[in-house]
Amino acid sequence: MFHSLNRDIRNGVWHMKLLRNEIKFLKELGDRRFYGQIATRQLIELQPQVIWLYALISVNACALAFTHYSIAPVWLTIAVPGALLPICLIRGIHWWSLRPHEASDAEAVSYLRRTSLVTALLSIGFVSWGLALDTYGGPYERGHVAVFVAITVIACIFCLTHLPAAALIVTIIVMGSLIPYYLISGNDVFIAIAFNVLFVTIVMVRILLRNYADFVRLVKFQTETQRLIEENAALASTDSLTGLPNRRLFLKRLDSWVADQRTNGNEIALAIFDLDHFKPINDTYGHLIGDQVLIEIGRRLAELSDANTVFARLGGDEFGVVVRQLKNVSDARFLCDKISHELNKPVILERVQLVTGCSGGLAYFPEGGCSAHELFDRADYALYYSKENSRGAITTFSDEHENNIRGERAIEAALHDNDILNEMEIHYQPIFNTRLRSISSVEGLARWNSPSLGSIGPDRFIAAAERCGRIHTLTIGLLRKALDEARSLPEEIGLSFNLSAHDLISSATVISIVSAVRASKFAPNRLTLELTETALMRDFEAAHAAISTLRELGIKVALDDFGTGYSSLSYVHRLPLDIIKIDRSFILNIDSKLGSDIVTTVLNLCENLNLECVAEGVETDSQVNKLQLLGCHYVQGYLIGKPVPMQELLLRIQTKGKILYFQRTA
Ligand code: C2E
Ligand code: CA
Ligand code: CA
Repeated sequence: MFHSLNRDIRNGVWHMKLLRNEIKFLKELGDRRFYGQIATRQLIELQPQVIWLYALISVNACALAFTHYSIAPVWLTIAVPGALLPICLIRGIHWWSLRPHEASDAEAVSYLRRTSLVTALLSIGFVSWGLALDTYGGPYERGHVAVFVAITVIACIFCLTHLPAAALIVTIIVMGSLIPYYLISGNDVFIAIAFNVLFVTIVMVRILLRNYADFVRLVKFQTETQRLIEENAALASTDSLTGLPNRRLFLKRLDSWVADQRTNGNEIALAIFDLDHFKPINDTYGHLIGDQVLIEIGRRLAELSDANTVFARLGGDEFGVVVRQLKNVSDARFLCDKISHELNKPVILERVQLVTGCSGGLAYFPEGGCSAHELFDRADYALYYSKENSRGAITTFSDEHENNIRGERAIEAALHDNDILNEMEIHYQPIFNTRLRSISSVEGLARWNSPSLGSIGPDRFIAAAERCGRIHTLTIGLLRKALDEARSLPEEIGLSFNLSAHDLISSATVISIVSAVRASKFAPNRLTLELTETALMRDFEAAHAAISTLRELGIKVALDDFGTGYSSLSYVHRLPLDIIKIDRSFILNIDSKLGSDIVTTVLNLCENLNLECVAEGVETDSQVNKLQLLGCHYVQGYLIGKPVPMQELLLRIQTKGKILYFQRTA
């Protein structure tokens, strides 16, 4: 039996060692969290049990003192319990007032150590007291002592399940004194009691150790699960490339800071940055280099962040920053300038040195909108404004922008009118062949005279229709109208029609275009569809497929506004095009050396690729002469003729013949 106890105690100590080693190992591994977590969980589980334990010891001790009051000396029945019970009371109150959930890891560990120490001292006190009382009284009183000691030790093991160190200390102290004491008593009954108690204790200790091992496993499992949940949450809110917070976390933080702002009144600023030259870098050097550039940009931004500043990659080459507790409005502007400065510094990679540059939009809360969502939209609008009007600059959202937004919203609302297509008409601008001295085709340009908003330019309402999802209706309706009106043109004059960037990537729109052309009485080989680079940049593969479908039908495809995008050249080679339209901005400067060089280059390109070339925005005779000299034979612009309704155009053709401009100058 003793052997078994020894083994179990050894086992217990071994278990304890093992556990301690395990904890030590985890600690050494840097997994301090588990170590702290287990101590905190021990504290939480122990709290109610320890309070009951002290209550139980106190009641048992009072009962023992009571049964021995008349037979034992007063110092034993009153003085000793009078010293031990207040300790139990104080410890009980202490445990009762404990807030284990709030204890730090280190605090939890120190509480547990202290508890083990107090338990050891109290065990020595009570067992010595019990054995001292055993020398007084008859068999009943001695039996009571045996019950007191045995029951109390079992209660200790039960209540201290989550602190096996303390439970084992109590067992060793109590059993280590009680068993030898009974064994040497020579009394058969006490010897039998000693064996009984010993056996029960061994079983109890085994259960205790097993339960504790299960408890450790459970906590470990929970800690691991929690770690995985947190790791997943962290991954879900981190941009995997740059390591910066992603859009999701950014918006979450913005939401919570905006909510805080309503109580603390501190100003918030939000800025969005978009890299100006990232796309060409990606296209020219490939995605690996593009990624490295983004990583470097992310690193630079991360260096600028602090507790009140969150940077995030919002997607693609767009980055956001939100700042709270602004002391001065100018602080945000200062930070934005710093960001801009950082993003304009060259990124030095192994073989290349690249400059991305950036445009930005900045908005303040509460001035710029009454919610996180609105603030974001305002900053986005300001960014869009920079991109459109002053690339490379940072625009601060202003009242003027607010009015613009209201105007755009009104346009979007009006576009939802069922009668919208009846409010629109198409004007036609001639494209002139200088060699044949005749109109080769006319470009249809939409006009909208809204009864409520007045005349609105196509640039504005096309963009609004794209935003509010009405572009499909507009494109198809206007195309049908243009095809219908173009039937009255002389057969040798073709029709050019503009597509929006959204049209080509929507297979539904492409199908509708094809059926509109088929349904019209207009020959597909007289139709040219003009598209801009933006359409190609959105989804090159879809655009490529759509262009091929249209060309199979005999429709010609023109690349509009050539040269205004960033990677025009890379697209031209890869697409089955028919015509390139040189943007007005190049024709405007054609008299300069640089302007004429650019036009010459484009013309050479067209010649090499066997494409026709149309010069847009021709306004002066000298521009026409220069273009002719350089070999560009298709011109379009106010000099040839402004866009006019079909009836007016037909009238001019009838009165002046097909030769408009040259007849005029001849
Ligand atoms: P775009 O396709 O580049 O059309 C040429 C624009 O330049 C037209 O402006 C035209 O009026 C103007 N323009 C022509 N010659 C000259 C000139 O000599 N000098 C100057 N200063 N301007 C000239 P508009 O009609 O305001 O159209 C603007 C843009 O709206 C068009 O640019 C086109 O991208 C878009 N658009 C027009 N109609 C439609 C349409 O039905 N569908 C789509 N998706 N877009 C359209
Ligand atoms: Ca056009
Ligand atoms: Ca154009």
